[in-house]
Amino acid sequence: MEFEFDLIVIGAGSGGLAAAKRAATYGAKVAIIEVNQIGGTCVIRGCVPKKLMVYAAKSKKNMDSSDGYGLKNEGIDFSSNILLKNIREEVSRLSDLHRNSLKKLNVTVFEGLGRFTTQNKLEIICPKTKKIKNKISSKKILISVGGKPKKLNIPGVDLAWTSDDIFELEKFPKSILIVGGGYIACEFASIFRNLGTEVTQVIRGQHLLNGFDEDLSSCLEESPTYTEINIISNTQLKTINKVNGNVESILDSGDKILTNNILIATGREPNLLPLNIDFLNLKMDGQYLDVDEFNQTSNANIFAVGDIINKPNLTPVAIEQGRVFSDNFFNYQKRKVNYEYIPKAVFTIPEISTVGLSEKKAKEIYSEKNIKIFKCKFTPMSNTFKKNKSKCMLKIVVHKLTDKVLGCHMFGETSSEIIQMVSISLNAGITKKDFDITMALHPTISEEFVTMYG
Ligand code: NDP
Repeated sequence: MEFEFDLIVIGAGSGGLAAAKRAATYGAKVAIIEVNQIGGTCVIRGCVPKKLMVYAAKSKKNMDSSDGYGLKNEGIDFSSNILLKNIREEVSRLSDLHRNSLKKLNVTVFEGLGRFTTQNKLEIICPKTKKIKNKISSKKILISVGGKPKKLNIPGVDLAWTSDDIFELEKFPKSILIVGGGYIACEFASIFRNLGTEVTQVIRGQHLLNGFDEDLSSCLEESPTYTEINIISNTQLKTINKVNGNVESILDSGDKILTNNILIATGREPNLLPLNIDFLNLKMDGQYLDVDEFNQTSNANIFAVGDIINKPNLTPVAIEQGRVFSDNFFNYQKRKVNYEYIPKAVFTIPEISTVGLSEKKAKEIYSEKNIKIFKCKFTPMSNTFKKNKSKCMLKIVVHKLTDKVLGCHMFGETSSEIIQMVSISLNAGITKKDFDITMALHPTISEEFVTMYG
């Protein structure tokens, strides 16, 4: 059977773009379908615009406490509308760069919503008119449509924002209630607070960032940023009402909180519904598409990468999955994605970074008696003259019998940059002795990783 394309990619986010570009470099005839701006969650409404907001918040925080360094400042005037406009321009620039590189590689871009009609055929729908714009076919189809914010099933939920809405704002609110204690909730709580918004954060458990090493959660909760955030724990949001242009949150305790708006950040879910895949009977893994180690679904022509499969939902993971897919199916390689020791960061201020096992997980797996913990907590030199001195924390989780380093965790400025490099050594199977024989670089924060003795 003749097909117009060798590969159709549905979704021009991190994973889809990586796969499309890599397949095109191998000479495949590739099409990519996207209903929004090219770039996906990371570029358009995730990592990139969020990190630019983090830089703004850090800059303000540094300026707020510059007096001790002899830098007199007469008060800082933050205009969130300028920041948000600049971010939108930068995001458009990056989106255009992706579009241009697709053009250079002869990848055909279809704008609209991709919908399966057979296992090899798709129609592209205009989201506004709902009319069919094109019908295309391909030997292989890669689904990379990403995720969308999960909505709480409570009255008034449509009054609340999701993280997608934050990037569409013209200016920041004066006050906000944030629901959730995960990545998105903590990052936005930190951004908003450091840029002057009053923040209340509602979490259903006891602590922020469940699943991370507990020392990281407690460092964040004790940080100067969080001493200015009102955390309400062990509670749930029950109802949202509109009150005189503001929103009222009613908690299950009956407490009522009035803020300019609410951000709900209670996780994300695969955005599969518009694809019309039910008739294909693809095997599922819970809410995710089930794939094998080569990202092949239960249908041999259809593949999936990114936030629609049950793997860490992170940009670099999706990019690698996309590239590995194209290396295997368009360049006859037999590569697999390495899911070991994936470094992770939460871009709060200061930031949290981690690679490998938490203390709790390591003890669960190897038993408490076989785990040794090395930990230090101190005020970094950069905070010497600051009024509110946040501490930093470094922690190494070691297997006592093999001396193998199982996990490294860090709370503090630039910790994401440090943990990225530490993850190389964990992938190489480093031992604590290897850390110990490495010369320190002084004065740095990261030197503590090689000077902790038990
Ligand atoms: P997370 O899974 O990180 O956190 C979800 C939070 O919502 C948790 O605190 C969870 O509580 C809470 N929650 C879940 N359901 C409910 C509910 N029904 N009622 C009240 N609270 C609830 O999701 P995010 O939305 O923050 O982020 C989604 C994903 O995006 C992340 O998992 C990550 O993969 C990715 N991401 C990565 C970033 C990075 O790399 N820096 C930044 C942003 C996103 P509990 O802990 O009790 O389950």
